[in-house]
Amino acid sequence: MEITAKTKKVGLFGWPLGHSLSPVMHNAAFAVTGLDYVYLPLPVAPEFLAQAVEGIRALGFRGVNVTIPHKIAVMEYLDEIDSSAKLVGAVNTIVVDDGRLIGYNTDAKGYIRSLKEAGVNAAGKSAVILGAGGAARAVVAGFIEAGAASVVVAARDKSKAGNMANLFSASAPVSGVSWDSEEFAAALANAGIVVNATPLGMYPETKKQPPVEWDLLQSSTVISDLVYNPLITSFLAEGTRRGYTVVGGEGMLIEQGALAFELWTGSKAPTKIMRQALLSGLNNKN
Ligand code: NAP
Repeated sequence: MEITAKTKKVGLFGWPLGHSLSPVMHNAAFAVTGLDYVYLPLPVAPEFLAQAVEGIRALGFRGVNVTIPHKIAVMEYLDEIDSSAKLVGAVNTIVVDDGRLIGYNTDAKGYIRSLKEAGVNAAGKSAVILGAGGAARAVVAGFIEAGAASVVVAARDKSKAGNMANLFSASAPVSGVSWDSEEFAAALANAGIVVNATPLGMYPETKKQPPVEWDLLQSSTVISDLVYNPLITSFLAEGTRRGYTVVGGEGMLIEQGALAFELWTGSKAPTKIMRQALLSGLNNKN
């Protein structure tokens, strides 16, 4: 498609950006829907974040996605923080509305939508989240919003798991445990879904797995991995081998992008095309 002065601009702030899959996914979506938008990778060094945020207003951008390391730091430069971003404590999508910069977070809802797409209903589930970083926080928020029965944050560091649980425990049944505790074993035995929100198993260290004692799980437990490179992690492969329903991390990446697309354009995102673009991008990545 031809880029003209009328073309609406969106993009991605991060540092370093490396080979991000978001441009290929969004530009494929704009091409197939015929929307006159372009998505640009925009590497922003931390010391220039404030100027870069002002820059999108000055240059008439419709918005940007925000990734590591700017997701929290960017919040102080925005005019408004939507409730989705307040809950997760981070912004991954900015929309510029009449010159006002509004920060959203589409990770929590995107994750829950990816489960739904895979035929898994988060409502009423007892969830065990492995890891206590940024992605874990979005997943915890997603489960609470979706009406999960309980959420256990399990990490190698008990204090980090506890701190994460404390962010939510006033309003929802969330607790934090360490991987070497009896509470962790009890949570696995009670789990409706177990989610890997650590980098364990991510390329190039693809043989690694989080420490799940498989014999403790019920046969109906769902195994979910946020890692999407490789698409089938060794955690998911072992879950499949043992007969569990498994859900890969690419669905979250697609759905968080689809929600950002919808915030910018007001149109429904073509998620099938976005998936195709993502998979071919992943093939070229490693
Ligand atoms: P993060 O903020 O750095 O948090 C990582 C978490 O994993 C922390 O709790 C960390 O524990 C733990 N961890 C790291 N290395 C570990 C190891 N060797 N053994 C045990 N625990 C370990 O990272 P994040 O942003 O939450 O991302 C986590 C994973 O999710 C990444 O693999 C990322 O690719 C994936 N992700 C996927 C999507 C998607 O759309 N599918 C979106 C976001 C993230 P410590 O604090 O003790 O180090």
